[in-house]
Amino acid sequence: MARPDIIRKRIADLRVPPNLADYAAARATFSWQAVRDELAGLPGGGLNIAFEAVERHARGPLRDKTAFRFLGAGASRDIGYGELSRLSNRFANVLRALGVGKDERLFLLCGRRPELYVAMLGGFKNGTAVSPLFSAFGPEPIATRIRLGEGSVLVTTDALYERKVAQIRGALPTLRHVLLVGEDGKTTNIPGTLDLAALMSQADDACDIAATAAGDLALLHFTSGTTGTPKGAMHVHDAVVTHFATGRYALDLHAEDIFWCTADPGWVTGTSYGIIAPLLHGVTSIVDEAEFDVERWYRILDEEKVSVWYTAPTAIRMLMKAGAEIAGKRSYPSLRFIASVGEPLNPEAVWWGREVLGLPIHDNWWQTETGGIMIANTPAFDIKPGSMGRPLPGIEAAIVRRDAAGNISLVDTPDSEGELALKAGWPSMLRGYLHDEERYRKCFAGLDNEWYLSGDLARRDADGYYWFVGRADDVIKSAGHLIGPFEVESALMEHPAVAEAGVIGKPDAVVGEVVKAFVSLRQGFAASETLRLELLGHARKKLGAAVAPKEIAFLPSLPRTRSGKIMRRLLKARELGLPEGDTSTLEAG
Ligand code: ATP
Ligand code: MG
Repeated sequence: MARPDIIRKRIADLRVPPNLADYAAARATFSWQAVRDELAGLPGGGLNIAFEAVERHARGPLRDKTAFRFLGAGASRDIGYGELSRLSNRFANVLRALGVGKDERLFLLCGRRPELYVAMLGGFKNGTAVSPLFSAFGPEPIATRIRLGEGSVLVTTDALYERKVAQIRGALPTLRHVLLVGEDGKTTNIPGTLDLAALMSQADDACDIAATAAGDLALLHFTSGTTGTPKGAMHVHDAVVTHFATGRYALDLHAEDIFWCTADPGWVTGTSYGIIAPLLHGVTSIVDEAEFDVERWYRILDEEKVSVWYTAPTAIRMLMKAGAEIAGKRSYPSLRFIASVGEPLNPEAVWWGREVLGLPIHDNWWQTETGGIMIANTPAFDIKPGSMGRPLPGIEAAIVRRDAAGNISLVDTPDSEGELALKAGWPSMLRGYLHDEERYRKCFAGLDNEWYLSGDLARRDADGYYWFVGRADDVIKSAGHLIGPFEVESALMEHPAVAEAGVIGKPDAVVGEVVKAFVSLRQGFAASETLRLELLGHARKKLGAAVAPKEIAFLPSLPRTRSGKIMRRLLKARELGLPEGDTSTLEAG
C-alpha cells in the first residue's frame, strides 16, 4: 500500500496544548540549570531522586492522588503520593536499622510488585544505589550482576529466592541481607533471610533523606546484552533533571494524564519512565504486574483510560501479528499520545498505530548509557515514518566518522551518515561502566572527550531528523555497499505476510557479505517456497538488487532479548555455527 512519507501534524488537532510547541525556540532558550532550578533540591542542599519524585508531591496538594495503580492477579491496588512517601520512608529506615550505608548497593528482583517501587525509592532516600533486575533472569545472570555490582542487600520474593537465589547465595560474598516478600502475602520464614513485611511494620513512617549530592551514584542499569555481555552503566542523582525534562518534552506528560509505560524496571526504560519521570510530573501510572497478552493490553488501554502510552516495537509487532480485529473490539477515546523505544520502529508500525488505534506511534531513541530519551518524535511535529525524530532541547547530536587511521571527526553536511554522537554533559549521561574503565573511556575517545559515541549508525537528513541505520556491529558490507539491516527489515515488513524480520551479513568470498533475512509470519500465513520467492521479489523491487536479501529463511519467531530486541548476533552465530556468546538476556522459548 503506498503511503505518504510524512505524517503532518497541526497543533490545533492536538487534544491538549503540547509541552514542546516551538522546537527552535525551546532549544535556543533551554538550559539544564533552569530545569534543575524548577526542581526543589534537598532542603539542606544536594539532590535526591526520591525527594523530587515523591516528597515534593507528598507535602503538597497531590498528597492523596494515585501515583501508581498496580494491576495484579486480583483487585488492583492504588498507592497515592502520600502513602508512597510513608512506605519508602519505612524502607529507608529498614535499611538504616540493618546498618546499610550510603556506599552500598541494593538489588531488586521481585517483578513489578509494589515492593519494588517502594524499595527503589527507599533506597534513594537512604542514599544507597539501586539496581533493579528483571525477575525472569535465571540464577547465573542474577549472580553475575550482583557480583559485578557488589550488592549487599537483595529484595526478592520467597518463591524467586528458592528457585533462583538460594543456590547462588554462597557465591555472593558481598550480599549481607536478603529481604523477602511473601508472594501469597504470608510471612516468610526461610533461614538466612528476613521478612520484609515484618521489618516494614516495625519501621518508622518518617525519615531524614540522606544528603546526596547531584553527582552521587543512584542507579546501576545493565544493558540489554544485544551485542555482547551486558555492561553495568552507572547513573547519578542528577539524572533526575533529564527525567524531568524528557518526561515533559518527549512524553508530553501533563498532570491529568494516565500514563502507562510497559517496560519492566529491570530495563532502564522501566525505571526512568516507568517510575521516575511520571512521579516527577505528578501523574498516575499504570503498572501491569502480568506479562504481555494481546487482549489484556487492549483492555488496560481501554478500561484504565490510558492517555499517554510508552511501549516498544516488539510489543507493537506482537499486536500487529494478532490482527486488527482484536483491537477493534474496544475503543480508546482517552489515548492521545503513543511513543516507542528500544529498537527501530518500522514505518509499517507507525502507520499501524494510526490506522488501528487512531494515533501514529512516535519513535524515540536512547540507550541505557544515556539514561533518558535523547532523540524523539513529539506530539506537535510532523513524523517521517522510519525516523527517530529530532534531538530534544538540551541535547546536541551529531554524526561522526572515523578515517582509516581511526581519527574521528564531526560530519556537518546537511544530509550525512555515520556514527551517532551526543555532546557530553547532559545530566543522565552514564558516569562509568562497572569495573570497565577502558570500555567507558572508549565511549568518549577522540574529539577531545567532548562527545559520547553511541555505537549506533544513523543518518541525519536536511530537516535535522535522525534515521537509524543499524548498530555499528550489525552493518553489512556487501560489494562495496554499507547496508543497514533496519532498511531491509522494514521493506520486508511491508509485505502483508511478514510479522518480523531480522537481517544479517553472511560472509561471502566474492562480495564480502551477502544479506540474509530471517522472517516470522503473521497469523494466517504459512511458510512455502512460493512465499519465499515472492518475498525475495518484493524486497528486490523495494530495495534494488544490491541491497535486497539474497537468502530468506522462515523461523517461527526470532531470537530476542527479554526486553524484546532482535538478537542479530545470535541469528548470525547460529547461521555460521559459531559460539552463541552471552545469552543471559535471551528470552526463553
Ligand atoms: P548491549 O549494549 O548490551 O548490546 P543494547 O544496546 O540493546 O544492549 P540498551 O541500552 O537497552 O542495550 O539499548 C540501546 C540500543 O537500542 C541503542 O543503542 C539502539 O541500538 C537500540 N535502540 C533504542 N531505541 C531505538 C530506536 N528508536 N531506533 C533504533 N534503535 C534503537
Ligand atoms: Mg548498547
